[in-house]
Amino acid sequence: MSKTGEIVLEKITKSFGNFQAVGTVDQVIEGGSYCCMIGPSGCGKSTLLRMIAGHETPTSGRILIGGNDVTTMRTGERGTALMFQDYALFPHLNLKDNVAFSLKIHGVAKPARQEQAMEMLARVELANLADRMPFELSGGQRQRVALARALITNPQVLLLDEPLSALDEFLRLKMRVELKRLQDDLGITFIHVTHTQPEAIALADKVIVMDHGIIEQADHPRAVYDQPYSPYIARFMGGQN
Ligand code: ADP
Ligand code: MG
Repeated sequence: MSKTGEIVLEKITKSFGNFQAVGTVDQVIEGGSYCCMIGPSGCGKSTLLRMIAGHETPTSGRILIGGNDVTTMRTGERGTALMFQDYALFPHLNLKDNVAFSLKIHGVAKPARQEQAMEMLARVELANLADRMPFELSGGQRQRVALARALITNPQVLLLDEPLSALDEFLRLKMRVELKRLQDDLGITFIHVTHTQPEAIALADKVIVMDHGIIEQADHPRAVYDQPYSPYIARFMGGQN
């Protein structure tokens, strides 16, 4: 069986000075699955995501992506793309050039990168706005540009750190549907950190519940919410914890 997009976290820990932000995490995330990660603020979700993306190095443990040990590999080389709520678009570049930017860095010729950028903008339904500047867009549109920009690197794994939390309720619902559709179409692995439990229930093949730097529960959403043994979930479900 192909391991494309599979993520294996082997005894991962991360300390900042004396403070252990993550540890110890052992987890396998199936290639091509939609995984949601939830847990209280400060429990280590972003740190774990940043280690998978290569923006932080684990203090100990190994990370395998698609069967390869990427623990010390650089960000651009491990087949991951990270997207977060602060869209960080280049304000002086139009949408097409924003999306094409990483291809430019990798030396792709202009016609090819413009063509790929247009394809990617079409995927997120923004092809008609390719020449607009970021300031001319709504929050939801900016978020979709950020998505296109992450996906143009052709990742095996897309890491989304609270991507929808800056959007209003209506846009959040709309984007939720689009994310699921994109993940289905592309068949790549998504790990999506969210604060919104219905989002996790609607999207995830697997929900990972983190607290105090460890994974308390990881299972199909139905199992997590029907039999919450994580106090964090039980609180939301009116459980006895
Ligand atoms: P979450 O995303 O779940 O809210 P984070 O992963 O951002 O949590 O942070 C987990 C813990 O690690 C927090 O206590 C945070 O303050 C700490 N932390 C994160 N990054 C750093 C850093 N670069 N230096 C020191 N402490 C950090
Ligand atoms: Mg965070």
